[in-house]
Amino acid sequence: MKPIGLYIHIPFCNGKCPYCDFYSVTPKQNVINDYVGALCKKIDEAGGVYDTVYFGGGTPSLIGADNIAKIMSHINRTPDCEATLECNPSDTGAVNSAFDFEVAAKSGINRISMGLQSADNAERKALGRRGGCDDVERAIKRAKAAGIDNISLDLMLGVPNQTAESLKKSIDFCKNSGAKHVSAYMLKIEESTPFYRIKDTLVLPDEDATCDLYLLAVEELKKAGFEQYEISNFSVKGFESRHNLKYWRCEEYLGIGAAAHSFKNGKRFYYERSIDKFISDIPPIDDGEGGDEEEYIMLALRLSEGLIFENYKKRFGKFVSENLVKKAEELEKHGLVNVTNHNISLTVNGFLVSNSVIYSLIEQ
Ligand code: SF4
Repeated sequence: MKPIGLYIHIPFCNGKCPYCDFYSVTPKQNVINDYVGALCKKIDEAGGVYDTVYFGGGTPSLIGADNIAKIMSHINRTPDCEATLECNPSDTGAVNSAFDFEVAAKSGINRISMGLQSADNAERKALGRRGGCDDVERAIKRAKAAGIDNISLDLMLGVPNQTAESLKKSIDFCKNSGAKHVSAYMLKIEESTPFYRIKDTLVLPDEDATCDLYLLAVEELKKAGFEQYEISNFSVKGFESRHNLKYWRCEEYLGIGAAAHSFKNGKRFYYERSIDKFISDIPPIDDGEGGDEEEYIMLALRLSEGLIFENYKKRFGKFVSENLVKKAEELEKHGLVNVTNHNISLTVNGFLVSNSVIYSLIEQ
């Protein structure tokens, strides 16, 4: 049986960050217990072998390392399985935190992803993050002491009052912490969030300034040893997120938990955003076919390696269309795309306007 990826959604958070529109609620212990039981049941029913596991949220660390270990014990993993746990530093790095990284590591967790967002405490506060940078430092130290050395940090670009200097300080923090991977996302004000309601009062960098922050992040992260391998993702060589690469390479993964999405046997499906429905065993909703040529191209172009002709041919049994290559050559003249004999990839300037570049490449 070919191993695939497994995503497990833990929809619990202690409070809600004002910019976040992920599905999460404040948990009660009995709900956590029921939810963990339902996850284990679904994992058993699904069977399969997994070469990547990703606990995302929400705040997966909030359910405690014993529950993480319990879930892990139900997952049939390959020996080299990459198993990532998203942690909130304010829970795992607080002085009195009860989270036991040793238990998590023993269960097979070998990668931690943490929301730093900014190393400037005033910016962290503006984002509604609980705790300061010292919590992040403590959490990293504890994870490493337990033998988990593969650490990823999230950074946010376009934060209220962010400057080039404060961004450089955040990147220095990533480098000095020994992180192996950085995800740098632009702050997006989503309609369903508290930030949307107060958006007119937020001092946000304008569009040009945000683009400059992105270009600066790419440059400074490179200097710090983090190579860009996707629009928003950077890593020390060999530490790319194997799990997330599956999404961009249109490979199969199973998502278990409320609001989790899957792509398996050519079909996409997802569980509703409801803990109750997940616990009550309501089946996932069919989301149609996935992985067609257009989707494959759109996802491949998010990666620095871009659309590799040979891989496309292997998958679809034909060459990339001449029309697409011609359009890419036009965009190359504007510095947005690179075209070689074996691939088409977006430049950093192309990444800045990726939606319109990708759209213009795939439109008929
Ligand atoms: S901790 Fe993460 S998932 Fe939870 S509300 Fe904040 S940003 Fe969203």
